[in-house]
Amino acid sequence: MRSKNIITACVLVLACSVLKASDTLKLKGLLYLDGSAVEISIVDGTISAIERMEESAGTRLPYIAPGLIDLQINGYSGVDFSDQELSTEDFIKATKALWKEGVTSYLPTVITADGEMLRNSFTLLASASKDPEIAASIPGFHLEGPYISPEKGFRGAHLEKYIRKPNWEEFAGLQEISGNRIRLVTVAPEMEGAIPFIHYCARSGVLVSLGHHNGSSEQIRQAADAGASLSTHLGNGCANMIDRHNNPLWPQLAEDRLSITIIADGFHLNQDELKCFYRMKGLERTILVSDALDLAGLPPGIYIRGEREVLLTPDVIKFPAENVLAGAATPLSKSVSNMMNFTRCSLPDAIRMASTNPARLLGLDDLGEISPGKRADLIIFHMTDEGLEILSTIVRGKIVYEK
Ligand SMILES: [Zn+2]
Repeated sequence: MRSKNIITACVLVLACSVLKASDTLKLKGLLYLDGSAVEISIVDGTISAIERMEESAGTRLPYIAPGLIDLQINGYSGVDFSDQELSTEDFIKATKALWKEGVTSYLPTVITADGEMLRNSFTLLASASKDPEIAASIPGFHLEGPYISPEKGFRGAHLEKYIRKPNWEEFAGLQEISGNRIRLVTVAPEMEGAIPFIHYCARSGVLVSLGHHNGSSEQIRQAADAGASLSTHLGNGCANMIDRHNNPLWPQLAEDRLSITIIADGFHLNQDELKCFYRMKGLERTILVSDALDLAGLPPGIYIRGEREVLLTPDVIKFPAENVLAGAATPLSKSVSNMMNFTRCSLPDAIRMASTNPARLLGLDDLGEISPGKRADLIIFHMTDEGLEILSTIVRGKIVYEK
């Protein structure tokens, strides 16, 4: 396996990274959509042409696909995006680690906290995300909470003491501090005042997602009427014991106006759930997210979180004493191959769920596809038994990671 990797890397250098002029890049590879050999020309960060070519004999070209887009990620590589002392250096470190995993855009996700902490978080994120080295990879932020269900099970790991009713004035203040960059907010539709709050958010251009909630069928329908268009990590942020008829899962699956995000690590949802959710929502309305915690991307082992020991494996974070889940750690690239294995969907379909669909939902019209005129955010990779082996990541026409 090791020697194969070295050969692969050589092919990449020869076939994929032919720099011509300072601002022109030509890449050769197999187009992810149909496996045909292509040469992609990039000028000034934008795809200018895609030409079909004969695949050269004796070389195994890697695949080329649009870069992955993660709508929900709490931290990476030891950096927590809700850290009250988050520095620009931390943020750059996490972004570079995500580039290595093929993520070219992501929404740093801030979870439930008190007002002062949230204001501080968005002040820090707004400032750090302007850094020119990484700015192109941060299209905005995701606020998950604090307007979610305080019920045990539904609130998940969010701290009950900070959970509160939706408050448009508070949200508008956070939005201002963020530089109008909160693109996605996760709320519970059953909270008092949630429906008008959803209406205001949607009207202001913020994507509203239902999550960490125990909403009724009627409340979920009203939320969709008010403009909610997504469900956050469906099947998680949900109590273990629920009524088989009246629970929040069925109405969200049945509501065609709601897309869903899912954590396809094989732990947060089992393979049957992933397959069913995917089949019920269909390719167009299914989006993969990592929901990764700060420990993700670090070497596997025992770490201390708060005052508790947690076990980080390559796929997930657990409380080892009870052997229960403590959080997600699977990078989005692994979720792509997991979806292919679990549901038998094709590579183009899995990439669509991790790139094209989130780009469309966020209104990032220049991302998530490979065609002339689109921004050159691309990944070059081999498919291996372990999943996508990312060889190179390109953001706005610039190679930001090379194996
Ligand atoms: Zn959550």
